[in-house]
Amino acid sequence: MIDFHCHLDLYSEPFSIAAECRSQELYVLSVTTTPSAWPTSRTLSNGSDKIRVALGLHPQIAHLRISELELFDELLPLTKYVGEIGLDGDPQLRKFHADQLRALEHILRSCAKAGGKILSVHSRRATTQVMALLAAYVDAGVAILHWFSGSERELDRAIEQGCWFSVGTLMMQTKKGRALVSRMPRDRILTETDGPFAQRAGVALSPWDVVETEKLLAEIWQVSIDECRKTLLGNLARLTRSVM
Ligand code: MN
Repeated sequence: MIDFHCHLDLYSEPFSIAAECRSQELYVLSVTTTPSAWPTSRTLSNGSDKIRVALGLHPQIAHLRISELELFDELLPLTKYVGEIGLDGDPQLRKFHADQLRALEHILRSCAKAGGKILSVHSRRATTQVMALLAAYVDAGVAILHWFSGSERELDRAIEQGCWFSVGTLMMQTKKGRALVSRMPRDRILTETDGPFAQRAGVALSPWDVVETEKLLAEIWQVSIDECRKTLLGNLARLTRSVM
């Protein structure tokens, strides 16, 4: 199983969650929200090459941590995974839009200079602008749009631009979400939880809850769970091989 977007370091017991991921042989991409969180978060992958820790600057706090862009550049050569990065168009964050933009452009430019990375990208209420930036920095690497919530038209543009998608159970609970997922190319999809941010009935999703996402995907694709899992693992292998 694969959880390609969660925040291991933000669970109350990160090391026991990571240990459980190891014992269940889960592939995990643990994204971070600030560059300064990366060195410590990275230790969560100890003993498992299945747990990767991405270097990020979350758009919702970009204005608070804009000074860490220098640190981002220092750490970037140490990883091929970058996230969580992106833009968030929430009206309450409008006054910080310039900072979000500056952070994302800086990060994409640095990734392009580094020869391309695997990017876990947040695009809530900002899909069109995120797509424009990704198009302006195509050498930044392969973008995996996490929890995509744009329109079908925006999705078609993302597909055309070569984006991948990480999808979760909560997004597939709405008709719109399922329609979007069924429109995504099967060879560019991975599963995610976005735990512990993503919660159900007040309880944070755990990385192994992707088992439910696999079930929903298998239903949409009308294949068996085994077949679905095979496709997802094949996708992950192809993705990680595509960026050195
Ligand atoms: Mn997230």
